Amino acid sequence: MPNLLFDALFAPLAGRETPLLTLRDGRGIGGDAFLRLVLRQAEALAALGLTKGDRIAVQVAKTPEALALYGAAVALGAAFLPLNTAYTPAEVDYFLGNASPRLFVCDGAREAALAPVAAARGARLLTLNADGTGGLSDLAARVAGQVAIADCAGDDLAAILYTSGTTGRSKGAMLSHRNLLSNAEVLLREWRFVPGDVLLHALPIFHTHGLFVASNLALLAGARMIWHPGFDAGAVLDDLPKASVMMGVPTFYTRLLEEPRLTRDLVGHMRLFISGSAPLLAETHEAWEARTGHRILERYGMTETNMNTSNPYEGERRAGTVGFPLPGVELRILTEGGEAAPEEVGMIEVRGPNVFGGYWQMPEKTREELREDGWFITGDLGKRDADGYVHIVGRAKDLVITGGYNVYPKEVELVLDDVAGVAESAVIGVPHPDFGEAVFAVLVPQKGVALDAAAVLGAIAGQLARFKQPKAAVVVDNLPRNTMGKVQKNLLRDQYGRWFAG
Ligand code: AMP
Repeated sequence: MPNLLFDALFAPLAGRETPLLTLRDGRGIGGDAFLRLVLRQAEALAALGLTKGDRIAVQVAKTPEALALYGAAVALGAAFLPLNTAYTPAEVDYFLGNASPRLFVCDGAREAALAPVAAARGARLLTLNADGTGGLSDLAARVAGQVAIADCAGDDLAAILYTSGTTGRSKGAMLSHRNLLSNAEVLLREWRFVPGDVLLHALPIFHTHGLFVASNLALLAGARMIWHPGFDAGAVLDDLPKASVMMGVPTFYTRLLEEPRLTRDLVGHMRLFISGSAPLLAETHEAWEARTGHRILERYGMTETNMNTSNPYEGERRAGTVGFPLPGVELRILTEGGEAAPEEVGMIEVRGPNVFGGYWQMPEKTREELREDGWFITGDLGKRDADGYVHIVGRAKDLVITGGYNVYPKEVELVLDDVAGVAESAVIGVPHPDFGEAVFAVLVPQKGVALDAAAVLGAIAGQLARFKQPKAAVVVDNLPRNTMGKVQKNLLRDQYGRWFAG
């Protein structure tokens, strides 16, 4: 029976002898062998009663079997619901309570802690361990893979991905077969993916970047993936000579730049480096080009929308920007007065086949963020420059309002980052008795530099209007980041929130 996503991503693996995945130990898993794994898992799950419309929640290590489980869910028409491996049992309880999955798959090492959670939420529990063994694999090994592929059209649900939820509760973004396939098709064309490509895959697969942008695209292209269980700079450098494309979050690139082994010779053969999920500093872009000769292609997307914009494959990849809307994706920037003029900052909204259908069981949240005519209010502030390149200025919730004036943290961060000795910075708003909020800077020094916060503030005094200048600054070794490389400003606000309290 037709199944939009399965037919495009997994069915074409039939008969493919060449590897779909190459593991760190050099072992290859052929396309056909992988498809059989998908089908055996699907049959095993069907035998447990899993069927179209069910949810399968998964908190496991990144293994070939975990990727196969995504395929098995798609084959059955069930919604795949991957969870960050860092979530605690209390957090998992929230997700299972909200999504009411029929099945929860977790690492055997955490079974004792998670079994009561699954039981309380009425989910059956199976294990899948970091070495690929476990209850799921045992069941799959006993069957032949004879399973009816569920009939799934474009609007059918393929996955629920929870947003990281740094403010309030995480929300489950409902992604349909069409959302995922349309985006993979567009990216395939825009980034020129071909069957001969070899994607170095070191991203987690519980997030849209590693699961959809990376894996869906490689599957759709008939390409191969070098499958790393996580990001390890040394391992990536070992395998880059065998790859043609790498996708990463900005921290991949900054960490690789710290390695003397990263040279033009090592990566001269590479076709493409892509970055996203968090802003890539223009300095990183420039340092990467100086060292390797490659200009990183930066793109912008989010859990709810898949990818929205990309710098051009051919043409200028402009540092500090996320390029242009992808074909089929409409993007507008709204201010209180209507559509923003070039260089004017406003709220980014997007519409297109990539945009999700709403938040799972949260109709009010859906109404707040997804307009009836299909425009999604991203929560990101941005602008277009005179040439139409989109710039992300930051999350609207990170906007600082001080004495009635709006301050965009990014504008202040860019000035701070240019001061000698500053590696990077994060600007936040903290409560202030006179101004409501005060601009506050957290500075990270370049290696080996003893940075003086007051001197940095003195150095920028002439460059920014007074209300934009931080009222105080601290120096720290590192900014707190989540697994996707995003600076966790909520943690900084918690930490420095009482700075000006009497
Ligand atoms: P997530 O849903 O976890 O993928 O987070 C999506 C958010 O990450 C977006 O709304 C942006 O705030 C941010 N983001 C993603 N890509 C970029 C980028 N290239 N530059 C700046 N921010 C980005």
